[in-house]
Amino acid sequence: MSDRKIEVLFSAEQIRRRIAVLCRDIAAEHDRDMLIVPILKGSFIFAADLIRGLHDKGLRPSVDFIFLASYYDKTSSSGEVQLLRDIETEVAGRQVLLIDDILETGRTLHFAMQLMRQRGARSVQSCVLLDKPVRRAAELEADYVGFKCPQLFVVGYGMDLAQHYRELPYIGHILQPEGE
Ligand code: IMP
Ligand code: MG
Repeated sequence: MSDRKIEVLFSAEQIRRRIAVLCRDIAAEHDRDMLIVPILKGSFIFAADLIRGLHDKGLRPSVDFIFLASYYDKTSSSGEVQLLRDIETEVAGRQVLLIDDILETGRTLHFAMQLMRQRGARSVQSCVLLDKPVRRAAELEADYVGFKCPQLFVVGYGMDLAQHYRELPYIGHILQPEGE
């Protein structure tokens, strides 16, 4: 894959500082033994930083992963959500926090929230790194938001374009080379 120019939208340092604030807010409102459910794949780096920040705030969460795919036609959602891998943890009576990279149409998060509620969670909240409000289809807002994001396709810090760019330490936008 050729190296394309990427414009930095949120630097590693900005992300680090924002996560420290999110951890403070989440820790203030959650039990020590909460259940954290990152939605794979895009949230894996965000979740890794967030759970370590929460540890520093005195929380001792259980963490289990759910793998959801919303079908993408190049860079926009088709609307269907598929459960590719479920959590193994019992949800009934638990305080659940879902973690996702981006809230866009809201279908992914809506699907995951419904699933946790059906299983009898005591409470279900959500934390997303980026909020892209323009294409919202489900009536849904996240309880904790890292940054409001412009309507651009973003990569890095766990987020991909065809499985590339997840390793970038910052969040960026790929600049189109001329003629593309
Ligand atoms: P939605 O809220 O159901 O539309 O789904 C949001 C999901 O779409 C996110 O979890 C991402 O996986 C994916 N997504 C949306 N916008 C972007 C983007 O700009 N870059 C990478 N993935 C994106
Ligand atoms: Mg995702």
